[in-house]
Order: sequence, then structure tokens, then C-alpha cells
Amino acid sequence: MFLSDIDKEIAVLKEMGRYRYLRPLSTAQDAVITIEGRQFINFASNNYLGLANHPEIVAAFTAAAARYGVGTGASRLICGHMDIHAQLEEALARLKGTEACLTFSSGYLANLGILATLGGPRATVFSDELNHSSIIDGCRLSRSRVEIYRHADADRLDALLKASKARRKIIVTDSVFSMDGDIAPLPDLLALRDRYGAVLVVDDAHAVGVLPPRGCGSAEYFNLPPEAIDMQMGTLSKALGTYGAYICAPRKTVDYFINTCRTFIYNTGLPPALAGAAIKAVEMLSTGTDLLRRLWENRERFIAEMAARGRPVESPSAIMPLITGGDRETMAVSAALYERGLFVHGIRPPSVPEGMGRLRLTLMATHTPEMVSTAAACVDELFREAGIEAMDQKS
Ligand code: PLP
Repeated sequence: MFLSDIDKEIAVLKEMGRYRYLRPLSTAQDAVITIEGRQFINFASNNYLGLANHPEIVAAFTAAAARYGVGTGASRLICGHMDIHAQLEEALARLKGTEACLTFSSGYLANLGILATLGGPRATVFSDELNHSSIIDGCRLSRSRVEIYRHADADRLDALLKASKARRKIIVTDSVFSMDGDIAPLPDLLALRDRYGAVLVVDDAHAVGVLPPRGCGSAEYFNLPPEAIDMQMGTLSKALGTYGAYICAPRKTVDYFINTCRTFIYNTGLPPALAGAAIKAVEMLSTGTDLLRRLWENRERFIAEMAARGRPVESPSAIMPLITGGDRETMAVSAALYERGLFVHGIRPPSVPEGMGRLRLTLMATHTPEMVSTAAACVDELFREAGIEAMDQKS
């Protein structure tokens, strides 16, 4: 019964062009990867700075594993809190300019925990319609009323906040949107936070290690005081090249989370070797790495090459959304690029709205200029062959 039911569901997914499967890499997460014996230029990774296999990060990981072992052994509140966790949290708080920081085992768990802890029957969460799925699931777990506002639309959010009678109002947004690469209007959201006495939670997963001037995240990008945002969540798994996540916030908020946040309390602490590797990644970012400049040069090159071909890409981040439309077009272009040795992931609903399928092309500091030029040329050629017009990326 169960197996025949899932057979039917799988048949529907295949019919719709939405069936997903795993492709094993046999190399590190680099600019060039090997999949099933073939080499590809990798334009699908969030390893924006190339730190995931950087020798200094690998050495820091190995050194921490040699000293602390591999497993954490318990949740942080039992006996899984090691001094290396505290050092990582201090380094992240310094990077963000906040009083304190708390790490989590993943960004998914952090977002579930943040919203479940802040929310409740007397709260309303105001969530951007394009927020990451971990925020959507966090909203569901929070037992709060949830109001979804039109993407990056502060006027719409204003109207919803004005109409709300909730005791606690929580505004939550990605800073850099993971499937669109655009940036939330944080100064406007802060003004609304102040006007309505709300709490502002920002997910900086794709901002830290990416946005100028120094890669400290969206607050720095907008030149906001470090603690203007109530809670800055971020991941270690993207530009910082490791795994895990954190919230940066005032000490009181962090202490409250240590006491109440279930995805922190009931989860084994981050493996110490990952903490060691992440400390090194934060140190590299804090002391100013050339990798950030190289990432930005690659980003500018790609945008210029696409514009020269009549295909403007608006993205201010390292995520380039190349809108294809329907599921079949998306997967056909992604497959054609794959045939040519370029790995660019095709994104379909439910990750993006219906009819807004796209290639999500991500740039890395470790791409050579030639790799970036090849990507722009191939994308343009295959889009033309598939009859995909240059589109306003926001349409
Ligand atoms: N938030 C955003 C915006 C993301 O893109 C991701 C991606 O995975 C997450 C949260 C979840 O982070 P993690 O992969 O560490 O669970």
C-alpha cells in the first residue's frame, strides 16, 4: 500500500519534470569537480570563497580533531560544550560586532529554533514571500499567526503591521535571497521594526563572506550599527566553507536562547573540528582576504558578459538567477550545460514560485576569468537555442 502510493507520487513528479536525484561528487567542493568520472566547472556551489577545501581550513579542522576528537558526545548544556565552541562564538560575535553569539548544528535548525522560541500563540510572524524554506518551516513550528508579505515590499509589510494586534510582532527575512540573489530593504524594515515595536530577524546565510565591503554581512553592507538588528542568523556552510550556523545578538538574547531554544538544547553540539575550521575561516575573513575581491571580480565579469549579450542580470550578490520559466525548459537547459561540462543547478517549484524556474548560477572566488566567460557564453547560446528571451529577472 505504502510502496504503491509512493510509486504513484514518484510517477507524478517524473511526469511534471520535478523528480530529483543525487549526483555523487568524487572530488572536493571546488571550481572544477568530478561527477561519475567526468569533469565539470562548478557553478552550483555556495562555497563562494573556496574555503571548503582551503588548505588552512583543512589544517585547522585536522588540528582540532586531533585535540578534541570527532564527536561532541552530548548537547552543549550537558557536557558537549568545549572551549573551542566558546572561541568560535567569540570570533563570530567580533566579526558581527555583537555582544554575543550562539552556534547551532545547521542553519535549518537555527531558523526552526529562532522562530519556535520567539513565536507562540500571541505572536505574529511577518515573513517575506521568498524566504528560505527553513524559515517557512520555522514559522509553522512557531505556533504563531503568520503573515506573508510581498517580496521585499516594505509598504505591504507596513500595512500588515499596522493592522496587527499581536502582542509580539516578528519580522523575518533573508538578507540575500537564496534563489534570487537580491537583498532585502533592511533600513526600511528597521524603521518598521521601530515604528511597531517589532523584533527583526535577518538570515545572513548568503551575505556573510560575500557582500562588500568586508564580508561581515548585511548590517555592514547597509552601514547599520552592529546591534541594530535584533537577531542576525548566519550559516557556516556557505562562504565560510564549513558546516553549522549561529545567531549573533545581545548577551541577554543569547542567554535566553540557551535556556529556551529547543533546537539548541536538544541537539548534540557542533563537532569540535568544525568549530576549529570555522574559527580559521572567520579569522581569514576578519583579517581581510583577497578571496573576497576575487569573488567580486568574477561577479562583475559575469554580469558584464551577460549584459554584452543583451541578457542583463540584476543580482547584487554572488547568486545569479537566470530565469527559464517552466520546469521542462529549466531542466533541458541545465542538462545541456551539463553536457558541455558546466554544472549549473536548475531550480523548480516548490523552491521557487510556479513558472519562475531558473538556473541558479553561483560564482566563486576560485573560478578563473576564463571559466566565468565560458559560463556566460554557454548560457547565452543555450538560452537562444531554447528560445528563452532575455527576461527581467524580477518579472
Ligand atoms: N537559510 C538560508 C537562506 C539558506 O540558503 C540555507 C541553506 O541551506 C539555510 C538557511 C539552511 O542552512 P543549513 O544548510 O546550514 O541548514
